[in-house]
Amino acid sequence: MARFTIPRDIYYGKGSLETLQTLSGKRAVIAVGGGSMKRFGFLDRAKEYLEKAGFEVKLIENIEPDPSVETVMRGAEIMREFEPDWIVSMGGGSPIDAAKAMWVFYEYPETTFESLTVPFSFPTLRQKAKFAAIPSTSGTATEVTAFSVITDYQKGIKYPLADFNITPDIAIVDPDLVMTMPKTLTAHTGMDALTHAIEAYVSTVHSQFTDPLALSAIKTVFEDLPSSFEGDEGARERMHYAQCMAGMAFSNALLGIVHSMAHKTGAAFEGGHVPHGCANAIYLPYVIEFNSKNALARYGEIAKYCGISGSDDAELTKKLCDKIREFNRILGIPCCLRDFGVNEAEFKKKLDSIAENAIADACTGSNPRPISVEEMRKLLICVYYGDEVKF
Ligand code: FE
Repeated sequence: MARFTIPRDIYYGKGSLETLQTLSGKRAVIAVGGGSMKRFGFLDRAKEYLEKAGFEVKLIENIEPDPSVETVMRGAEIMREFEPDWIVSMGGGSPIDAAKAMWVFYEYPETTFESLTVPFSFPTLRQKAKFAAIPSTSGTATEVTAFSVITDYQKGIKYPLADFNITPDIAIVDPDLVMTMPKTLTAHTGMDALTHAIEAYVSTVHSQFTDPLALSAIKTVFEDLPSSFEGDEGARERMHYAQCMAGMAFSNALLGIVHSMAHKTGAAFEGGHVPHGCANAIYLPYVIEFNSKNALARYGEIAKYCGISGSDDAELTKKLCDKIREFNRILGIPCCLRDFGVNEAEFKKKLDSIAENAIADACTGSNPRPISVEEMRKLLICVYYGDEVKF
């Protein structure tokens, strides 16, 4: 038996934030990040809509990027005192991810992070509250997924939490919220969405339910990301929906080793954080080259669906990689980690441990081609120097 889970309702369109005034309940919390939602007036509007619907509203503010265990515990404590029947989260991936974990600790105070790291083993939620998610970036799609990433800074561990219990009840995908995204964020999150859709399409657990969502998302990214990057409003709106569709695909089809590598290299180097979407964008063509031994026909299908022509799957797949590299060039994303600025000596020193960690990542299991630690080492060397993958 397989399962396909998405939110019960996805509200979309300009101004769809006003959906909040149709919720019913007594108390709602709004979990939100640093400042942009407040600065642009969306937080006030969300609060007004909920108050109009008769809610008493409490804010959980200042949720940091890569939210910590402490932030989750602080929020869960506020929820236990306030007893909301709706949890509304808005912002980039981080406040929504944090609110998902707060929700678990609100309903089950005795639970532990260690127990939640076992995928798909959560206790049954919705005993106390339902969950609405409102994204302000176009990439993570956490508003429709079963995932949340929480960081334990003391132990230096990222907890990837996965369970359909934390798939939100409602996603509000309002393009007004992403019109002010800076260009670099638009580029990185857009390439994250493309990676989600491509990895979901070739995943070992892809299905008839996830394939159309993934294909449509890929096509839209190829058509609209460059214009969205340049600020075209229509393109940016379509990108916002496409990333959501990619999210519905990968929440159910899972991902692959582009994400395994991005997770383990993101914070590995002293020279600076490699933003998640930027790392994915760099690694994606190399991973396609590696995976094409097992998934050549699937990549060929993607290419054809996007209007790329070629005499066979090998040519189609090569042209797909060329297109991704061309996108990276247009979007100002480097072609390899060396060009990103990662120090060579540091890379060499950390290579073995990064390779081992990437193999152990939760996303490795659904990659279409199995990979050994030694092969991961070689692949990481290719993405560092920009070499073609020939093994
Ligand atoms: Fe991602």
